[in-house]
Amino acid sequence: MRERTIRTARVLTRLRFDATGGFDALVQQRLAGRPLTRELHFDRAPELVAGTGAGNMYCPSCRRIRCCDPVRLPGLADAVAATHDAGAAGGTLHMCLSCFYHFLTPEVSESRLLEIGEALARLGDAGGAPRNVIRFPRRRR
Ligand SMILES: [Zn+2]
Repeated sequence: MRERTIRTARVLTRLRFDATGGFDALVQQRLAGRPLTRELHFDRAPELVAGTGAGNMYCPSCRRIRCCDPVRLPGLADAVAATHDAGAAGGTLHMCLSCFYHFLTPEVSESRLLEIGEALARLGDAGGAPRNVIRFPRRRR
């Protein structure tokens, strides 16, 4: 049986290929300070899996933009809450489809993003930002 190991900054994933073109992925990492081990099955080749997914986002383990899928893990909210990481507790769990690293993305409200954008735009007005950046649109009041 063919095997392959993927090691990125924060995860160790062992792939075991089956005869039908799919594979099992044994994922070992830490999540919210706790060890996380998952065994996943995919019915396609890793190269095909890596190219699918709900969206592109930054994988903290690959340290690149990758296709990632949201993941539901029963009991995760309790485990994260137990670490007293309030920011992470309100987040969404995602899995990178290249290295299979699981990571939490915080939920940020649209109004908070606008506040940050406006603050950055003000910094630009003060001459702090380079002229070649795309200006953040101002909110009409
Ligand atoms: Zn990754």
